[in-house]
Amino acid sequence: MVLQEAQIVVLGSFMTDVVSYVSNLPRMGETLCGHKLAICCGGKGANQAVTAARLGAATAIIGKLGNDSFGKSYLDALKKENILTDFIGLTSEALTGLAQIIVEDSGQNSIVIVPGANNYLTTEDVMNSRDTFTKAKIMLSVLEIPRETVLSGLKLANELGVFTILNAAPAVEDLEKNFYILSDIFCVNETEAEMLIKQPVTNHDEALSAAHRLMEKGCKKHVLITLGKNGALLLSRDDNNSFLEPVFVKAPEVKAIDTTGAGDCFLGALAYFLAYYPDWPLCKTVTNSCRVASLSVQRAGTQTSFPYKHELENDLF
Ligand code: ATP
Repeated sequence: MVLQEAQIVVLGSFMTDVVSYVSNLPRMGETLCGHKLAICCGGKGANQAVTAARLGAATAIIGKLGNDSFGKSYLDALKKENILTDFIGLTSEALTGLAQIIVEDSGQNSIVIVPGANNYLTTEDVMNSRDTFTKAKIMLSVLEIPRETVLSGLKLANELGVFTILNAAPAVEDLEKNFYILSDIFCVNETEAEMLIKQPVTNHDEALSAAHRLMEKGCKKHVLITLGKNGALLLSRDDNNSFLEPVFVKAPEVKAIDTTGAGDCFLGALAYFLAYYPDWPLCKTVTNSCRVASLSVQRAGTQTSFPYKHELENDLF
C-alpha cells in the first residue's frame, strides 16, 4: 500500500494498557500480589484505526509515541495491522502514553492514564502530514491529544474537502465553537454528551434534547450519540439547514461480555463504511457500525475484540 492511498486518516492517540488482575483493589499504601498481567495496545485513536484497517480500509494514523520500548513495539503492532505509520513520530520528550489498569475479581477497576508522548503531537506534525490528507476521504480525530492539534487537523481537512468525524472523547466540560463547526459528524457517547451540555442523558427524550443542544453549539450537519446497548441516535440537518427526522438506530441484542472499546470500534467502522460505501444513506452506515460494534462486545479485551471483515455477515453490504 502506498502512502497516498490512505482513505482514512486518524489524528489520534496511543496508550499501552498495562493491566494487573487482583482479587481486591489495593487500599491506600497497600502492596498487593496480582494473579495475572496483560500488556495490550490501546488509546482511542489507535483503536479506531485498527478497526478501520481490520475491515479493509487503507488507514493512516498521525500520532506520537515515546522513543522507548513500548513505543517501538506499538509501531510494530500497527505495521502488522497494515496501518500506514509514516506520520507517527517518536519523541524523547516523554514516554509512550500509558494506562495502568487494575481489575479486581468482581470486575471493578481503577485506572491511571498518563498521556505522555500523545501530548507532544503538534500542529506542525499535522502540517507535515498534509500529503496524506490530500488523498483521504475521511479524517477521524479524538481528544486524547492536544486540542490545538485536533483543531489544526479539522481545519486542514475542511480546507482540502476531507469529510471530518470528531469523537469528542474522553469527556470534557467545554469545547470551543470551532470543534463543532468543523466537524461533519460530531460523535459522543451519553456521558460525553452530558458533560458538554450539562444535562442528564439517560433515555431517548434526553438524548434527543442533547443532540439539539449540540447542534445549537455549532454542528453544521450531523450529531451522533452512541447509546450503548440501545444503539445510537442520529440527528442531521439538510442542505437548507432544516432538521431531518431524528433516527434512533437499534443495536443488535447480543450477550455482551466486555464492552470496553465498543465506542472506538463503532467509530472505526463508521469511518470505514463512509469511505468505502459513500452512497449509503447515513442511517444505514450507522446501523452497520452498530452491528460491527456489537460483535466486539461479545469478546474480551479492546483491540483483541475488534472484528475482521471476513467475520461480518454478508447482508451488511
Ligand atoms: P466504551 O467507552 O466502552 O468504549 P462508549 O461508551 O464510547 O464505549 P457505547 O455507546 O457504550 O460507546 O457503545 C458504542 C456502540 O457499541 C453502541 O452504539 C452499540 O452499537 C454498541 N454496543 C455497546 N454496548 C452494546 C451492547 N451491550 N450490546 C450491543 N451493542 C452494544
